[in-house]
Amino acid sequence: MTGDILTLNCGSSSVKFAVFDAGAPDAPAQITGKIAGIGRAPTFQARDANGQLHTPDPLNALTPTHTHEDLIPRLLEWLVQQRGAHPLRMVGHRVVHGGKTYTEPTRITPNVMANLDALCPLAPLHQPHNLAAIRAVAAWQPDIPQIACFDTAFHQTQDRIQTLFALPRALGDEGIVRYGFHGLSYAYIASILPQHLGTRAEGRVIVAHLGNGDSMCAMQSRKSKATTMGFTALDGLVMGRRSGTLDPGVILYLMQSKGMSAADVETLLYRKSGLLGVSGISNNMHDLELSHAPEAQEAIDLFVSRAARTLAGLIPAIGGLDAVVFTAGIGENSAPVRAAICSQLNWLGLHLDPDANARGDVKISAPNSAVDVLVLPTDEEAVIANACRAQLAI
Ligand code: ADP
Repeated sequence: MTGDILTLNCGSSSVKFAVFDAGAPDAPAQITGKIAGIGRAPTFQARDANGQLHTPDPLNALTPTHTHEDLIPRLLEWLVQQRGAHPLRMVGHRVVHGGKTYTEPTRITPNVMANLDALCPLAPLHQPHNLAAIRAVAAWQPDIPQIACFDTAFHQTQDRIQTLFALPRALGDEGIVRYGFHGLSYAYIASILPQHLGTRAEGRVIVAHLGNGDSMCAMQSRKSKATTMGFTALDGLVMGRRSGTLDPGVILYLMQSKGMSAADVETLLYRKSGLLGVSGISNNMHDLELSHAPEAQEAIDLFVSRAARTLAGLIPAIGGLDAVVFTAGIGENSAPVRAAICSQLNWLGLHLDPDANARGDVKISAPNSAVDVLVLPTDEEAVIANACRAQLAI
């Protein structure tokens, strides 16, 4: 199969893109890049396969008024120009929520779009942008086949008991259950675990995806057995702007005693909480690490404490622990956060090699550690590209 596959991963203020050769499954992306800061101060970055950075703004004068819908067609035109003779065969999208229905990469049709639209309230920060990207591609070239790859899909292997809330049964039956997210990232890490852990890859592994959104997944035999995000991507760890786990009574109090509307609470929990809310300084871990403000340190301490408690709480679902993997922006880059989380887990026989951790080696556990600790960069785009290749081969 000749030609290109384009992957698009749209967040609330960003579009990540990658172009892959459809016929070369193991080849790195030919172009990767990101438009960030949409709606505020948009920036454009792109690299070719040799790592060279393209000029700052090939889309010409990005402004704060540009929306995802304006930018995607311009991005597509630019990418097609860059790739010259390579025809675009398929576009694969990261779609956050597939609900109960979509557990495999799925070809986009009007019916699929209607079903995915209905899931927007469950992922208000992401799903509308994911779907806007699909519509923008369809408007640009209606004949290009598109598929959706779901963050929820990897967690289909959880036992039912891990998916239930302690709510009346009828609510679970109608779909108010724990789905779990970051599935494309976990699928990628699961795919490369054997290279790094050998037969231990089939054992009991907890992967910590620590980025702007944060979650953990407990795997056995490289399949999801439990995860920290639930019905929405709001549950679990402290995130950049999201609260993570919260006593539901707080929400009742905010609405009943402080007169907040549902929309106010949504904004508070999705956009004003997490590292940003606690520090009052930034949602960005690196900024907080550089700050000397006590509020910044407190936000980091809360992030770390919740991460360690949560990791330990996942262990019963897999009956022990052979390895921990750190991935995503914070997991891959912050040696202090990794060290702080692991230091609260020494009682598990988990010990870091401080030098290996500071260097960001792949294996950062000490030789005497009962639990292997790894740092592995994730690659959600590679998972989407492989799903496209599989569809093209049908
Ligand atoms: P997204 O979820 O948007 O893909 P990333 O996985 O890129 O986000 O993670 C972004 C987070 O990673 C930010 O909090 C950022 O500060 C953090 N990060 C990136 N590099 C570093 C670093 N060198 N030290 C500490 N934190 C970092």
